[in-house]
Amino acid sequence: MADRDWKHTACILCAANCGIEVALGEAADSRRFVRIRGDKHHPGSRGYTCEKGLRLDHYQNDVGRLTSPMRRRADGSFEAIDWDTAIAEVAARFGEIIDRHGGERILFYGGGGQGNHLGGGYGSATRAALGIRYVSNALAQEKTGEFWVDGQLFGRSRCHTTGDYERAQVMVFWGKNPWQSHGFPEARRVLKAAAADPSRTVVVVDPRRSETAELADLHLRPRPGGDAFVLAALVSLVAERYCQRAWVEAHCTGADEIRAAVAGIDVAEYCRRGGVDETDVRRLAELIGTATGGVSIYEDLGIQMAPHSTLNSYLEKLIVVLTGNLGVPGGMNLHSRFASLGGGGSGGRSGADEPRTPVTGHRLVTGLVPCNVIPDEILGEHPDRFRALLVESGNPAHSLADSQRMRAAIEATELCVVIDVAMTETARLADYVLPAASQFEKWECTFFNLEFPRNVFHARRPVLDPLPGTLPEAEIHARLCRALGAVTDDDLAPLHHAAAGGPDAYAAALFEAVVERPQLGKLLPVVLYETLGPTLRCADGTDAQQASALWGLAQLCAAQFGPSIRRAGIGGGVADEALGQALFQAIIDHPAGVVFTVDDYPETLRRVEHDDGRIHLAIPVLLDELRALAGEHPPGPDDAFPVVLSAGERRSGTANTIMRDPSWRRTDPHGALRVSPADAARYGLRDGGRARVITRRGSAVAVVEVNEAMREGHVSLPNGYGLGPTGDTVGVAPNELTASEDRDWFAGTPFHKHVPARLEPVG
Ligand code: SF4
Repeated sequence: MADRDWKHTACILCAANCGIEVALGEAADSRRFVRIRGDKHHPGSRGYTCEKGLRLDHYQNDVGRLTSPMRRRADGSFEAIDWDTAIAEVAARFGEIIDRHGGERILFYGGGGQGNHLGGGYGSATRAALGIRYVSNALAQEKTGEFWVDGQLFGRSRCHTTGDYERAQVMVFWGKNPWQSHGFPEARRVLKAAAADPSRTVVVVDPRRSETAELADLHLRPRPGGDAFVLAALVSLVAERYCQRAWVEAHCTGADEIRAAVAGIDVAEYCRRGGVDETDVRRLAELIGTATGGVSIYEDLGIQMAPHSTLNSYLEKLIVVLTGNLGVPGGMNLHSRFASLGGGGSGGRSGADEPRTPVTGHRLVTGLVPCNVIPDEILGEHPDRFRALLVESGNPAHSLADSQRMRAAIEATELCVVIDVAMTETARLADYVLPAASQFEKWECTFFNLEFPRNVFHARRPVLDPLPGTLPEAEIHARLCRALGAVTDDDLAPLHHAAAGGPDAYAAALFEAVVERPQLGKLLPVVLYETLGPTLRCADGTDAQQASALWGLAQLCAAQFGPSIRRAGIGGGVADEALGQALFQAIIDHPAGVVFTVDDYPETLRRVEHDDGRIHLAIPVLLDELRALAGEHPPGPDDAFPVVLSAGERRSGTANTIMRDPSWRRTDPHGALRVSPADAARYGLRDGGRARVITRRGSAVAVVEVNEAMREGHVSLPNGYGLGPTGDTVGVAPNELTASEDRDWFAGTPFHKHVPARLEPVG
């Protein structure tokens, strides 16, 4: 196959977003990915992929893909309608909602997945046009606790830390199995290299002996739900013995409050409550405290979707900071970003002035409505409840806790509109479904640009034209904004004219237009798409209209990270005012991705955004929670629910839920329930047999896999099952078993990794 037959793009199945090249078939197969390989030209992944990325044809050619807008009939069935009718009716129906209740009563959910954030960027214009104030997405059931802690420590929730795993002397994976869930470039290669190097140490903290734990030098297996005790013991040891006092005094405030809060911790007792050997915890403290080549810690969903979620994030970050492993090679660093993730930038407020949700009064964590309170914000008779939903590239009926209540909530809305590529579980409940082009049929990108010191941005060009009947989100939102009357030809005429004069003339005209009419600024992605977009071209002449939202973001990125962009070799001799344009041109001219920033390690401390430039270690509300651990014991087994179910384990045959076709998997066809040999014997289960899993919320029957890697009392089901392209499903949908009230008291993040359950043999 000649080089010209391969097209650069990226895998969209996990946040690593490895570069891939795809080759299309011929004739009847001309829309099929007949071959896929790792892209050696991608500056982040350099040809690396795992096995999952090589099966993306199952996404691109899913049999459940939509090819026409759909409208629900009175009897609940759907009928195909044309785009003009769909856009006009959706705009009119939302207009009625606004007239009756106001735009604040519309909830927006979604806005992109692990590799498709560009469409969500255009969605912000429709949100502004509708007057939507409340937003939620998957981050609000995974990462908002951690982001909030970042905001408190470093000044803004966008001050996100990332590990330097290539160089770390000690790498710790806490509630994380990068062998399967990846999370950083070339994860398996990096893990194998570290494991083979006697001067480096890999540590895993996970109840299960995961694939990563198999490689580790030290594996701690806490009792499910006991991590906060282990972390607290570790902070206590670190604060007492390994604190880099001079460094902490120079860069932090609040160290005395931390020392006081952990001084009385009985390490042996906390280890016992956490279910780990005290000797192992002391060894881990010493490894971290004496490392001279940097310590990187990756905390993930195993502790973020479990009891004490936000506290866990806080304690993990204290370990890093107290030992001076921030802003050093091999340690944790504050990375650059092309765009901010999350719903809101501040993340620093707590207390009476925090923004709250309208019904339950739950805090908006980093600007997002916690997913687990959404049903309570819709169901019932509260006058301020959400009355309508706009869902884009999200599937809350499947992926949020307590699917039964979530379905009831969606059905209780007066209007639900879904923008997606397929007839998802949520789309089946909607009033209108607008079919989007797939992530390989339009310009796309990820804003998961989380690397340090070299950070990569990959603006992906379309591999195919949109499937007939579908539209890219940029076009859908442009049409919606026009139908809603938010943008008119008169508004845009001066900008059309200015765009013909080149980027400088355009930037000046845009500034003037936004000053004159600030609402245009909120509609910016669509304004750019409509006016500047038609003039945008790659160096080879490729049309880049759909990438126009990136032009605006490139200006912001250049203003914030100019020296890092220049260190990456972008901008040459251009003036600072032109750096954003140079950055934009660089990213659209590199179809396999480009390094857009190169940082120095000291950059990290300069990125702390508190006014005094210091890290604020004391977070009073979480220190109270830490102190309260003294009187608490981890939730133990009870007679009704004696095991802990981890609902949503990442395995070799699971990815995110955009892979809806079950035939993409080569292993684990039914999504087996993994149980330890001891539990199998106790509950009368056999390998290959079936078990009923019963929780407080529901029950489901699963195929049993007796698995030596499981800890006694801990069972797991995989994520990504219970989906089906045409409504028939395979395996257990995890959220049929979870309850929305099981959530972190502070951030509202669900306890998917800690679901009390019992098991019964079936048949
Ligand atoms: S699943 Fe993740 S690690 Fe595997 S190829 Fe895709 S992006 Fe890369």
